[in-house]
Amino acid sequence: MDVITHDVVIIGAGLAGQMAALEASSGADAAIISKVHPLRSHSGAAQGGINAPFGNVAPDDWEKHAFDTVKGSDYLADQDSVEILCKSITSRIVEIDSFGAIFDRLPDGKLAQRPFGGGSFPRTCYAGDATGHELLNTLYEQIIKNNVKVYEEWLSTSLVVENNICRGALAINLKNGEIAYFRSKAVIVATGGSGRVYERTTSSHQGTGDGISMAYRAGAQVSDMEFVQFHPTTLIGTNILISEAARGEGGTLLNAKNERFMGKYAPKMMELAPRDIVVRSIQTEINEGRGIGGEGAEFVELDLRELGREKLLQKLPQVYKLAKDFANIDAAETCIPVQPAQHYTMGGIRTNNACYSSISGLFACGECACVSVHGANRLGGNSLAETLVFGKLAGASALEYVRKKEMPGIPKKVVEREEERIENLFKGSGGEPEAGIRKELQKVMWDKVGIFRNERELEDAMRTVKKLGERYAGVRVQDGSRVFNTELMQAVELCFLLDNAGLMAYGAQLRKESRGSHFRTDFPDRDDKNWLKHTIFTMKDGKPHARFEPVRITSFKPEARAY
Ligand SMILES: Cc1cc2nc3c(=O)[nH]c(=O)nc-3n(C[C@H](O)[C@H](O)[C@H](O)COP(=O)(O)OP(=O)(O)OC[C@H]3O[C@@H](n4cnc5c(N)ncnc54)[C@H](O)[C@@H]3O)c2cc1C
Repeated sequence: MDVITHDVVIIGAGLAGQMAALEASSGADAAIISKVHPLRSHSGAAQGGINAPFGNVAPDDWEKHAFDTVKGSDYLADQDSVEILCKSITSRIVEIDSFGAIFDRLPDGKLAQRPFGGGSFPRTCYAGDATGHELLNTLYEQIIKNNVKVYEEWLSTSLVVENNICRGALAINLKNGEIAYFRSKAVIVATGGSGRVYERTTSSHQGTGDGISMAYRAGAQVSDMEFVQFHPTTLIGTNILISEAARGEGGTLLNAKNERFMGKYAPKMMELAPRDIVVRSIQTEINEGRGIGGEGAEFVELDLRELGREKLLQKLPQVYKLAKDFANIDAAETCIPVQPAQHYTMGGIRTNNACYSSISGLFACGECACVSVHGANRLGGNSLAETLVFGKLAGASALEYVRKKEMPGIPKKVVEREEERIENLFKGSGGEPEAGIRKELQKVMWDKVGIFRNERELEDAMRTVKKLGERYAGVRVQDGSRVFNTELMQAVELCFLLDNAGLMAYGAQLRKESRGSHFRTDFPDRDDKNWLKHTIFTMKDGKPHARFEPVRITSFKPEARAY
């Protein structure tokens, strides 16, 4: 077994991981582990943009941004954390602009800003509709310039934690199948979301909730997993995202009767109400028979024709091309068939405002973390903002932490146990491949822990997830090769998916109210008296143990949410 030593190891090379690495590398030896090439991280798929209250188009300030975020979160976000996000993001954008990111600009040279769901002003800065791609490439240049070592195509399988102190991580080198111990004084988890828990998702295949599961298994607190964001507009069939920017630029939603139905649900903000509201409106239209396309394939239409070809090609070239390439539709002439799909994981590794988890030396940032700035529903454009702001803070905290710490010894037993666990995946007694279990998991999560939830279905889902977990114990990887064994990778990831799914279903079953993205048909109202609190899970004897923590409220008293 190889031992690879760095002061700080960052798992994940998306925007959060790269930002953290950049900051940590300013005073320590920092390295990144990523299961894909850094530029293939899901951050690169972000289209619409990044929120920052520059006020370039209409007067704006951090307090207005904070209010929209808190209201969007259905008052579950911790308001002191939101303040940090909204006060710091403009500096982060100026920083990444100075690194060379090319944002769209107004004629006077200021950054252009477009309207986005739940924002009371045009606040979303953007680079066409490929904002994530632009930011990720820019940061990657800085990573290279600053000599951050990147272990790309390495799959981290577990964290090494003894006596509640993190001492590094274990990872498989996908190129030869060998396991190495990454010995470090601190680990930053930045592994992104867990969209692949669901049958329909906009997430790339890497979104399997690895870090959330690894931290949970190591004893860390994980919170608010019941809050899963569904996106209103994904291309029918593939569920490729059609960015909110399409509605921000003036796109409208139509049902089978050709009605612009959002007027019924959000008379003021219409298509630009927050995502949870637009998703439920679309699903209600479909459930009540006003969807298009017959049973099992229902959708509504996103109408971009009014924009005209020139504006489409200038402002939304990616949307235009995705519709053309994946549905053979010319969006300038024909409506795009869209349906909701999973999009974002609001819950995750519980951290404080400086990104410390409940385990010493373990930090988390980005989509896998729950600080919490998104509460029960994230606003579009706020996730990229979170990656930059809290990625930098995680790097700074880890840097400060490692200055006072010694490099740990080598916990041989832990390392050997992990080698044995991975080896056993080739010998599973049940002989079953992982793919069938994964598909069943994704289906039950979509069917029963989806947009509309109820007690009976949630209990069903919990039972199914448990049974699938039992079957997982006997999984056998059929492909015996060690070089780029994607089946082995997926078998490891399935364990992570099962953990995430179990916590999502359990959290949803516990929460007897409707708030943000979590809608219970048997408890349709928000209940601030009993449920204005975070769900916190820790693993005890192999099972989730739940407790609750109050939401931190500073300036904005909870009110009814109308749009
Ligand atoms: C299609 C799409 C469009 C979006 N558009 C927007 C938008 O316009 N605006 C906005 O604010 N948000 C948007 N989002 C959300 C936002 O892009 C993500 O939440 C954010 O980029 C996540 O960044 P991250 O750094 O936390 O993780 P990611 O970018 O997801 O990166 C995760 C990293 O972790 C690594 N990793 C994971 N598991 C392991 C493991 N076990 N071992 C080693 N490495 C591992 C991966 O290799 C990857 O490098 C969008 C999301 C999607 C899916």
